[in-house]
Amino acid sequence: MADDLPQLQQQIKACQRCALAGYPVQGPPIFSGNIHARLMLIGQAPGKMEANQTHKPFSGSAGKRLFHWLAQAGWQETDFRQRCYMTSVTKCFPGPNKSGRGDRAPTRTEQRLCAEWLEAELVLVDPEVVVPVGKMAIERFFGRDRKLVDLIGGRYQIDGRIIVPLPHPSGASSWIQKREHQALIVRALQHLSVLKKQLVL
Ligand code: SF4
Repeated sequence: MADDLPQLQQQIKACQRCALAGYPVQGPPIFSGNIHARLMLIGQAPGKMEANQTHKPFSGSAGKRLFHWLAQAGWQETDFRQRCYMTSVTKCFPGPNKSGRGDRAPTRTEQRLCAEWLEAELVLVDPEVVVPVGKMAIERFFGRDRKLVDLIGGRYQIDGRIIVPLPHPSGASSWIQKREHQALIVRALQHLSVLKKQLVL
C-alpha cells in the first residue's frame, strides 16, 4: 500500500485490474482534488466525457446538476474542485450499456477490484466530511439494504467522519424528479451548507 497520496495515485493510474479480468473499461482512472481536502465526494464511476475529454470527475451533464446542487450549499464549482477531493467507487469509464443509451453500471466484481483504491484514498486524504453520491457510493457506508429515501436528507457519523449522502444527479434518474425526494435533497444540501460554515471547509 502507498505511504502517501501521490504514490497511491500513481498506482491507481497504472492499474489494469478490470481489463485483465476481462471488463471493457476505458481508462484513464479519473479522480482529482486537494491533497489536504477535508471533504471527499465519491461518485459511482466516470462517464465518457470525463474519460475521453476532460479527465475531471463530474464534468458531464450529471456534473452540471451536481454543481447546481452544491451551489445551493454555498460551493462554487471552481472552489469545490480546488478545495475538495473527488473520486469514485470505480475509477475507469465502464463503457456504454447494452442499449447504447447510457453507461454500463460497474459490476460487483469491478467494485471489489477497485475497493482497495477507495479505501486507501479515505485513509490518506482522511476527510472529516464525506459525500457519497449515488447508490453505489452510499452502499460503501450504509450497506446494500438501506433505501435512498431513508438516507438522503440525513447527516451521519461513521468511523469518525460526517457522512452526507446525495442521490446520483443523472438526468436519467427518476428518483430525483419526485417532489418528495427533491425535499430530501434540499435537506442534504442544508446540512452541507451548515458544515461548510461550521467547519470552515
Ligand atoms: S476501475 Fe479501478 S480496479 Fe478497475 S482498472 Fe480502473 S482503477 Fe483499476
